[in-house]
Amino acid sequence: MCKDCWELIAKADDTEFLDSLELTHAERAVLEELYKQGEMRIVEILELQGKELHDAILELSEDLLIDIGELGKVLVSVQTGELFTIQFEQAVYDAFQPLYHLAGETELIELDPDKTWSVKNKAASRFAKNLQKLVPDMNGTSADVMTRAFQKAIKEGKTPSERALLVREISAAAAKGDAGPFNMERAITVSRTMSTAAANGGKLEGWKQSDVVTGKKWRSSKGDRTRKTHKKANGQVQPLDKPFEVGKSKLMFPGDPSGRPEEIIQCRCTMQSVLL
Ligand SMILES: [Zn+2]
Repeated sequence: MCKDCWELIAKADDTEFLDSLELTHAERAVLEELYKQGEMRIVEILELQGKELHDAILELSEDLLIDIGELGKVLVSVQTGELFTIQFEQAVYDAFQPLYHLAGETELIELDPDKTWSVKNKAASRFAKNLQKLVPDMNGTSADVMTRAFQKAIKEGKTPSERALLVREISAAAAKGDAGPFNMERAITVSRTMSTAAANGGKLEGWKQSDVVTGKKWRSSKGDRTRKTHKKANGQVQPLDKPFEVGKSKLMFPGDPSGRPEEIIQCRCTMQSVLL
């Protein structure tokens, strides 16, 4: 798909998702700004990661360049290095933790204007930890993408030096964001997964703190790209402290970072409060 088309689709999805959160104009503006910041920060980090990988690849001898095991080691060392682990976790925290609080506070004040949202609540710090747990999954996906591309290059090259050259070309393209996992498209995927988790996680905590809401109803996002399991979950009602049953996962809310990646990546579903 062309880059512009992809961005248009992502924008339309975001708009629909933001609409479904029923925010005031001011809250929505804050949220949109947070989205943008989070996305930009993740783009920066992915670009840095791509460059770091390419630098490491350039240092390998021809023999090592065509050894998939060695390439795997390089990938792991880049991903587990300070750059990715610490910076990525920090970026996730900075961009999406405010969103969690904003969503939670909005719900709470709406339900009971006399209540005060507790920022230092345990749920928020537990949530931050869970959100950061998504980082290894994101890592795993980009490692898979690169490994497949390297394997293909090694298979296609006729001589060892041709293979090594192809491997270098692939890592160069990935570093520029032209192909591979370090591009804008991927940053959007990461940030929308995080934003769904943050918005819904905050909402749930806001309902809990209200002492009014007792249940929650899953609302699957409209559109063709919604997973079958999420369409099926549409309308499912659960008590606040019980998870939704979605596919093979038990999710406390749409995007719950403790669920399986296949049920949360790029999910755009939301929840409605219900009184049981
Ligand atoms: Zn969904």
